[in-house]
Amino acid sequence: MAEPICSVCKGQKYIGTAPNAQVCPVCGGTGKEFDAGVTWDLTLDFTINANAVGVGAQITLIDNRPFRMVYAKASSTGVFTFTMTDASSQRNMFGGLSTAAAGTQTAAMHRDNFFGTAQLPYRLVTPYVFNKQVLFSLTDLSGAQNRIFIALGGVLLSQ
Ligand SMILES: [Zn+2]
Repeated sequence: MAEPICSVCKGQKYIGTAPNAQVCPVCGGTGKEFDAGVTWDLTLDFTINANAVGVGAQITLIDNRPFRMVYAKASSTGVFTFTMTDASSQRNMFGGLSTAAAGTQTAAMHRDNFFGTAQLPYRLVTPYVFNKQVLFSLTDLSGAQNRIFIALGGVLLSQ
């Protein structure tokens, strides 16, 4: 399905005429109709064993529709660290240039440094669009079986 063109600039990406033309304020110069999407939470309910390291889990998109993530929320029975990867680009969502000690993951994020709750969710500085699965690698720090609920808040897009 072709992406609908911006109804304001008619896909021209700007409005007005030179020398007073400006970037279309509705589509931001993309020429494409803004897709407000449908409010949605992508959720994961996953249990890992005590002291489990790097257990893979994933959230699959609904009907292969892109998902614009805005909020990060989670609850768990124990503390954990994790990595989060965009399956379409293999982009890891965290990390830097720090050198990891032997046996640790370079891009691991502590639960408390990323997720909020529904009452006070972590809001991404800019929304991030996932076009495929969201991949997680989960490591338990609690020493007990750990049930982890992750909810990525945002909107399902059309295409
Ligand atoms: Zn426009």
